[in-house]
Amino acid sequence: MVYTDTRDKSVKVDFKTAVMSGMSVKTGGLYVPVEFPKLDSAFLSRTPEPSFREVAYEMAKPYVKDEIPDADLQAIIQDAYPFTAQVVPIDKISYVLELFHGPTCAFKDFGARFMARTMSYFNRSENDNLHILVATSGDTGSAVGSAFHNVPGIDVTILYPEGKISPLQEKQLSTFEGNVRALKVNGTFDDCQKLVKTAFTDKDLREKFRLSSANSINISRLLPQAFYYMYSSLVVKNRIPHDSKIENPAIICIVPSGNFGNLTSGLIAREMGAPIAGFVAATNANHTVPDWIATGDYNARPSIATLSNAMDVGAPSNYERISYMYTLEEVRSIFASYWTDDKGTKEGIEKCYEKTGYIIDPHGAVAWKAWDDIKNGEMEKLMKGEGNTDINVPGLTANIPSWAEHIASKNAVGIILETAHPAKFGSTVTAAIGREPSMPDRLEKVLSLPDRAQKMEKDYESFKEWLCSNL
Ligand SMILES: *Cc1c(COP(=O)(O)O)cnc(C)c1O
Repeated sequence: MVYTDTRDKSVKVDFKTAVMSGMSVKTGGLYVPVEFPKLDSAFLSRTPEPSFREVAYEMAKPYVKDEIPDADLQAIIQDAYPFTAQVVPIDKISYVLELFHGPTCAFKDFGARFMARTMSYFNRSENDNLHILVATSGDTGSAVGSAFHNVPGIDVTILYPEGKISPLQEKQLSTFEGNVRALKVNGTFDDCQKLVKTAFTDKDLREKFRLSSANSINISRLLPQAFYYMYSSLVVKNRIPHDSKIENPAIICIVPSGNFGNLTSGLIAREMGAPIAGFVAATNANHTVPDWIATGDYNARPSIATLSNAMDVGAPSNYERISYMYTLEEVRSIFASYWTDDKGTKEGIEKCYEKTGYIIDPHGAVAWKAWDDIKNGEMEKLMKGEGNTDINVPGLTANIPSWAEHIASKNAVGIILETAHPAKFGSTVTAAIGREPSMPDRLEKVLSLPDRAQKMEKDYESFKEWLCSNL
């Protein structure tokens, strides 16, 4: 597969280059494959549907063709996904897609584990280790640390601001042994980021060590997230005639979004033939993308802290990929857009539990609430011209997607993406529903492990000294 650059279509690189460099150094643009090959129609119409790992293998194949042989790709997928995504019905026309069955209980495991194994694969003939440096304000660090833990040829150094992440998050990234180490920095997240950025531009250091990042914009994190959209839409398509007697359902994926990587992966799955009619882009108070869809003006802004903090992004980096792949008119036809504030998020957790018995986390709750509002007539209001047109008022924003008719005629079904386990946000969930979500074993276990993080000052010289004596 050839990959090009969102800022310069004349750029042509292979998969290895796109993965190992992360983004285009020359233009600062993001890598995108030049095409999204459709899966075979016989594969798409199989009943029962293919397994998650079969879907993953078939979807990944064209993107790594001529660079990773089939048997090696099979091994990468087997090793990356000892867990799967699970489809859970919560009412007759709504399913929750649980993406938290990986080791860190959040959807980023899907992307990070595939990235770690492809990087290790491409690094296999090198004599020296590849050193990954990551600054984190919480969730990315644990997903990346866990994904690379014990992966050969690579080590990871995670920097986080001491005292500024939750105790559970800290346990999740500071308790690894071996090739993943954590530094608790006496400073802010921005200080951590600055240390990493300075290291990347330090010539002296770059001559000594092979450094790399594990950024969320890496194409090898984006592609594997398309697997679970394909898989779940095939599962739901086969289930719906039994669950709700709808003959030809329009499947809508409702995606709680921050950087819009997850949603971009959904677009890739749809291009490859997933039976998905459209998407709801659901955000918190950081509603840059809903505003763009409603008004046509894209205004990046500083982020605002909310209860769904992994979605607190004011300048979503994958806007660049979405607007490379589609015109604004196409986006408006595929997407509905929605945002809610913290009050709405709490209400989402509470109402979801009350109406369905399902305990949802604050991120999934934003998506659940969007779908609940759509089902309860908000889309029809928009169609009648009675909807909300003020972008600063929470709710469905003024855009009628091509699939709106299916909502009115009641043959749409929703897949709500649940991106984190509710126990990761225990206090918010408990405050909303009056009971604690149960703690999965793998989170419980991590809480009792000894903290191995080392202290670090925020000045670059101390950091560099540490790197030189520890890498
Ligand atoms: C990262 C994250 C998101 C946002 O995903 P994007 O791909 O950045 O849109 C949503 N929920 C959780 C729990 C996350 O960790």
